[in-house]
Amino acid sequence: MEKTDNIIERPSPNQDARPDGTVIDILLLHYTGMQSAEAALDRLTDPDAKVSAHYLIDEYGHCYRMVDETRRAWHAGVASWHGVTDINARSIGIELVNPGHQFGCRPFPNAQMHSLTRLSTAIISRHPIPPARVLAHSDVAPDRKEDPGELFDWQRLAASGIGVWPAYRATTDDPPAFSEAMQLLSEIGYAAPETAVMTGAARNILLAFQRRWMPRDLTGALTPETAARIRSVHSELMRG
Ligand SMILES: [Zn+2]
Repeated sequence: MEKTDNIIERPSPNQDARPDGTVIDILLLHYTGMQSAEAALDRLTDPDAKVSAHYLIDEYGHCYRMVDETRRAWHAGVASWHGVTDINARSIGIELVNPGHQFGCRPFPNAQMHSLTRLSTAIISRHPIPPARVLAHSDVAPDRKEDPGELFDWQRLAASGIGVWPAYRATTDDPPAFSEAMQLLSEIGYAAPETAVMTGAARNILLAFQRRWMPRDLTGALTPETAARIRSVHSELMRG
């Protein structure tokens, strides 16, 4: 029996059964976007709120379990990845306490990142979650969500063996045209529209991509740097 590492039980009624035969193959990361851990725990366990996640990690690294991994927690909402829309059915959701864009994003402390790494390593050992399917809420709901936000350190997480972080590299390839960039983003998994010109939906996808893969460059535009990054992320993820 594996050690549970001091997980604090804080059960939420906001859960139901996963559909029969569902494979759990996505790890989805969020920030709470509230002013305190206690406020977030209250909301995520409030039957009227109808939201939850499997785990919450506070800024001191304390880990709370709200929903058992065998059950479906309600954290993704309207979402899509590789055309799959019931993200809750296939995922484990982790909420990271952070005030977020509404109350002021701040860096995720060491203790919190350490606890997240330990928990994620255990989750990945229990379920067939490939590195390319460790995702941000903003990846799967780019029109509605910005979490866990551009201050989240995906590179550090990948260095701990969770998720992927392709190196930035210069490329001599011609940058993809707009429609080709959207096609590559859709092959990565984003619900990218088929369009040769900028639209509101395309901009949200580009912003979600930048927030995740080039977080110092949130332009929402297909800059040459963004085009090169789309190519490098695409080739890295397609290899795996
Ligand atoms: Zn979220």
